[in-house]
Amino acid sequence: MHDHRKLGRELDLFDTDPLIGAGLPYWLPDGAAVRHALEEYIRAAERRAGYRHVYSPVLAKRELYEISGHWSHYSDDMFPPMNLGSEQMVLRPSLCPHHALIYRSRSHSYRELPLRMAELGGMYRSELSGVLGGLTRVRAIQLNDAHIFCTLDQVADEALASLEMIRQAYQALGITPARYRLSLPGPGGKYVAGPDMWRRSTALLTDVLDRSGLPYEAAEGEAAFYGPKIDVQIADGAGRESTLSTVQVDFHQPERFDLHYIGADGAKHRPVMVHRSIIGSVERAVAHLIEQHGGAFPAWLAPTQLVIIPISDAEVPNAEALARRCAGLGLRAEIAGPERGSLGARIREARLVPYQAVIGAKEAAGDQVALRLRDGRRLDPRLADDVLTGIGALVDAHSTDLWDGAAWRRQGRGQ
Ligand SMILES: [Zn+2]
Repeated sequence: MHDHRKLGRELDLFDTDPLIGAGLPYWLPDGAAVRHALEEYIRAAERRAGYRHVYSPVLAKRELYEISGHWSHYSDDMFPPMNLGSEQMVLRPSLCPHHALIYRSRSHSYRELPLRMAELGGMYRSELSGVLGGLTRVRAIQLNDAHIFCTLDQVADEALASLEMIRQAYQALGITPARYRLSLPGPGGKYVAGPDMWRRSTALLTDVLDRSGLPYEAAEGEAAFYGPKIDVQIADGAGRESTLSTVQVDFHQPERFDLHYIGADGAKHRPVMVHRSIIGSVERAVAHLIEQHGGAFPAWLAPTQLVIIPISDAEVPNAEALARRCAGLGLRAEIAGPERGSLGARIREARLVPYQAVIGAKEAAGDQVALRLRDGRRLDPRLADDVLTGIGALVDAHSTDLWDGAAWRRQGRGQ
């Protein structure tokens, strides 16, 4: 596997500047295109699964984290508070407390549950500068997060549905989990008290994993401070594991924030919070994608999806017209004209781009392109419109396949 820090710089995806600081990478246009495609995929998948999106601020008063328990259990990983008049403001270490407050701001009936609240939001971690690097250890994190407020009876189905969303996302992204882990508390005082609560939530997640049929291992000392979790582990080229996706059951924060819903009996009841993340932090997900694919992203994620190669200056106007059609269809295309060197050199330079559309005199005359695929396959010249339609269909379906000219039908729709 490749090192995403080296490749990320070579491919102009992201970089850092000492004046911004360690662990605070910025995204260059090509990296931003990958990130945007990933974020849009997640938002669309969440909308389909019944989530509603919110936005919440990246900081809050210190008191909020005293209530949530972060201040007493997690402050080593938090930035020091900022004094603002008589108040102390803190960069948030997670999105959960904000979402609990959003839930609490309106009254809820049992009919609204499960209430699925999602946000791709910023959070901060005061990593020491010695361990920072690339996109995997950062101080500013964009998290794909969601909280499902539900009844105890609904927890297992929601957790299973989250595992299924994770499976689908990994398929679209072309990544394979290293293993599933049931993360349990260990020795030490960083966990909230409540042995009964821990037993119940551990039993729930164990049941979910058993029902899912997925192989998993239990690991002590890896739980969140407020509850156990299912972690989906990925591994880098050196075999180092990290957590990408997670599903957690939480009885603690609903209690701390005094959350409730009105039941069928007209009385107040306490909801359970399921915390879940499909791709974890955008930074870690993109780092892994870079390493996994060596920069040759699935076409729907690729910064440039199609390179248009006019053989000579005479076909440059055709190439420009094709690039405009691509832009109109939402495809990311780029022209590699004769000024960039010989045909062979331009094809080699575009080796990570999923599709290369070569236009010579013959193709230009017939509004055709000769398509080359990243894997070396070459198609006979065909109408540019047919090529763009075929490529667009696989991009829209978030397929990891390359379009090879065959009639293609969306998976699951049958013939
Ligand atoms: Zn959470």
